[in-house]
Amino acid sequence: MKKKVYFKTFGCRTNLYDSQVMMSSLKEYEITQNEDEADSIVINSCTVTNGADSHVRSYISQVEKTSKAKVFLTGCGAHTKGEKLLEEKRVHGVFGQSEKEQIDLMLSQDKPFYNPGDLNHVDESVVDDFIGKSRAFIKIQEGCNFRCSYCIIPFVRGDARSMDEARILEQIARLALNGFGEFILTGTNVGSYGQDTKTSLAKLMKKIAQIRGVRRIRLGSVEPIQITDEFKEILDEPWLEKHLHIALQHTSPTMLKIMNRRNVYKRDKELFELLDSKGFAIGTDFITGHPGESEELWLEGMKNAKELPLTHMHSFTYSKRDGTASATMKPEVNGKIAKQRLHEIDKLIEQKNYEFRKSFVGNLEVLVESEKDGLYHGYDQHFNKIIIESDEDLNGNWLTVKNYEVREDCNYAQL
Ligand code: SF4
Repeated sequence: MKKKVYFKTFGCRTNLYDSQVMMSSLKEYEITQNEDEADSIVINSCTVTNGADSHVRSYISQVEKTSKAKVFLTGCGAHTKGEKLLEEKRVHGVFGQSEKEQIDLMLSQDKPFYNPGDLNHVDESVVDDFIGKSRAFIKIQEGCNFRCSYCIIPFVRGDARSMDEARILEQIARLALNGFGEFILTGTNVGSYGQDTKTSLAKLMKKIAQIRGVRRIRLGSVEPIQITDEFKEILDEPWLEKHLHIALQHTSPTMLKIMNRRNVYKRDKELFELLDSKGFAIGTDFITGHPGESEELWLEGMKNAKELPLTHMHSFTYSKRDGTASATMKPEVNGKIAKQRLHEIDKLIEQKNYEFRKSFVGNLEVLVESEKDGLYHGYDQHFNKIIIESDEDLNGNWLTVKNYEVREDCNYAQL
């Protein structure tokens, strides 16, 4: 009888994907959904904040109480906490994500081991995930060369490296042939694609757009300095979604310096105004409560954010991560204040999003992604959500919506 393995995944999309790869690479073992009957437990860990680390630790404690399974640790936490956990004999083996395709070999080791793997590893496969039958996530690069002071990612995911162009194009061509029309290019730092292979994101996107069946290309988060002159030339292309997510992280020039960011507020503003003039909806990431964010700097950040044509926001309260420069910075910001600030900036962007939708004149180009209680949910070219009531089965369809109602939370139509 085959031995049973249970996978416990923490963290982001990348980890979910890595767990999928491990599961599909298993040959000599069987997957179980039940921790209690597992002979081995693989923890695919996240280490992005101290909180993420303690979740992994408390999961190990729980397993120690209830199970006799051998515990293996992989994922980002393997690099930061792996050796310590192994020393404490709390895990049997530690391996880096580059070893995931060799999962059988890892699980078969009798002696405790630490194998951090290769931080320069590039996956063979590029398809990351699918939403329904119409949108595919394509991983085009991994790792990051930036060194933002609060971020551990470059230390656990390595420097930026690009996936093979031919492989990306081949995968997309195959998916387009099977009916996929929208492709979302993802990675740790998507905009750095091509720097190591003497090409660029804009060049790759132009090639993807030429593939038959490709209707819309979307990007994960890019950095302001990655919107180069070459990239600006593709802004009017019909296949580029009219929504870009450009990570600012803050809008106070002093805070950007403290956070060791490469963007500069004045230039960010010019860039956003250019994109706005071309009809783009613009999203960003924002961290509130990073050490050093005094009331004065916060107010400056809010004043600047009000001036920016923003429509979407991923905001986070700062979360300390040992091993980063920010972890020792002072003065720290009280957690309650960080949350209030988060709430304030979220409210501002919700309002801006509503204004944007109200002032837009034209049709919405919608890709319907899912159905819930008889209502269809989709996203338009500005990455705004729309709910559509219809008796027809619209799942996976592309629609041009002319008449719709702009509600405060999202757009709404009846077809
Ligand atoms: S660009 Fe993103 S992944 Fe890279 S160091 Fe900064 S926050 Fe981390």
